[in-house]
Amino acid sequence: MQTLERNYSDKWKEYERDFDHAVAEEVIRDVAYYRTLLSNIIMIGAPNEDWVLVDTSLRQYHDRILHACEERYGTKPPKAIILTHGHFDHAGSAKKLAEHWQVPVYIHEAEMDYVTGKKAYPPGDPTVGGGLISLLSAAFPTKPVHLEKMIKPLPNDGTIPHLKEWRYIETPGHTPGHISLYREKDQIFIAGDAISTEKPESSWSVIFPFQHIYGPPAYFTEDWMTAEQSVKKIAALNPSVIIAGHGIPMHGEMMQKELKELATNFIDQAIPKHKRH
Ligand SMILES: [Zn+2]
Ligand SMILES: [Zn+2]
Repeated sequence: MQTLERNYSDKWKEYERDFDHAVAEEVIRDVAYYRTLLSNIIMIGAPNEDWVLVDTSLRQYHDRILHACEERYGTKPPKAIILTHGHFDHAGSAKKLAEHWQVPVYIHEAEMDYVTGKKAYPPGDPTVGGGLISLLSAAFPTKPVHLEKMIKPLPNDGTIPHLKEWRYIETPGHTPGHISLYREKDQIFIAGDAISTEKPESSWSVIFPFQHIYGPPAYFTEDWMTAEQSVKKIAALNPSVIIAGHGIPMHGEMMQKELKELATNFIDQAIPKHKRH
């Protein structure tokens, strides 16, 4: 265990120095992502066009996120920041970035209390074990995310401000107001933590990512039964590409097959054994 932890902290330090590599990778012409060590941020919009940022990683990453965004869009700020949910590994840099760009941050109504200091998420579940935890313990914030001044609830009709072609899909379970983003014309799906394309509980996946479809990160998932319904909802949309909060984007037959399997066998595949009732 100690060796592993040392590996993580070495990797972390190396990453900290790796500022110049903060560059987004294009998934298609108008969707790109930037993978921080722990979680992804997604940029929707082609270079030179209006754009929107989805999720903001940990608070330690705001300068690197800014670097990656400026590489793609110059100094043109996004129209808004959309959060899939309020966990600190997705909302961590929202405040600094929103202040820098002077733009609003949107989140589902049911998440509002968690990013305005009114409610706290339940603490992570250490019994699920694994790699994410040793990494997270290094990054865990001492204070909750406070976005009172810039946060707004998403419209409740599924539309997303500044993203005409996109809809948000309610995918609760991991958190009460978790959302994913979906564009029907090319079936691109931005999953947040409703599913993952790496297994965050695996000690090695952060360093050696393998692409597979997994359930939501177990450490922070609150309601497994609701999470299962959300995965079934995602599978029914039959996405062509999935960009999850954790892991490298996936597309194609293997992804679609694994997504269907996960939706069918969610209890066995996603829920940690000792949590199945
Ligand atoms: Zn989460
Ligand atoms: Zn996450």
